[in-house]
Amino acid sequence: MNLILLGAPGTGKGTLAAGIRNAIGIAHVSTGDMFRHNIKDGTPLGKEASGYIAHGELVPDSLTIRMLEERLQRDDCRKGFLLDGYPRTIAQADALAAFLTGVGQKIDAVLDIRLADATIQERLSGRRVCPSCGSSYNLAARPPKKPGICDTCGTALEHREDDRPETIAVRLMAYHEKTRPLEDYYAARGLLHAYDNEVGSEITLQSILKALGTLGAASRP
Ligand code: AMP
Repeated sequence: MNLILLGAPGTGKGTLAAGIRNAIGIAHVSTGDMFRHNIKDGTPLGKEASGYIAHGELVPDSLTIRMLEERLQRDDCRKGFLLDGYPRTIAQADALAAFLTGVGQKIDAVLDIRLADATIQERLSGRRVCPSCGSSYNLAARPPKKPGICDTCGTALEHREDDRPETIAVRLMAYHEKTRPLEDYYAARGLLHAYDNEVGSEITLQSILKALGTLGAASRP
């Protein structure tokens, strides 16, 4: 099954992606994580992308599309994939559709995760992430047991540079201007399933898994 997780930054896509991946065993492909790894490793792609990311802007389509297409050709994507943070523009969505058609595949569903901008601001400014294992915490809602330390692996937690209030505002603007039109794009293709994540990620995950169960059963011969 090939899925897209759509939604503004801070809506809980990463947490939901981990739950979906664990439940149905498909590859989790996060373009944000891929860029962050490239930046950490000092690759040419990381060097090109870092300025955009630090300012909360989207990395240009040309770089992002190429990186994603290379990733989708890896073996672990053969059994299905979950795209998290991609596509973020109509051009990326068109490129994805053309690429998948070329390899005889398609997107089965787009899960659109929704949250009010005020809640997003609150969640992202309190978010702390583990640079080692990727676990995510929230100082108000889900703090680590020991302040500043990852419960899972004991690494010091980080406050992502792009989770600072002024950068969050730029990221939300980019979302509304460039990514939100994808809701209509995928609704017109009959693929959009919307979820209001104000209820919390646990409940949303259960709703998603139930819908995917129905979808999986419907697509089996
Ligand atoms: P994320 O972790 O998904 O919030 O992504 C962090 C940052 O990486 C974004 O604010 C963008 O600067 C960049 N980024 C991630 N995915 C994309 C994409 N599909 N297109 C352009 N920029 C992206």
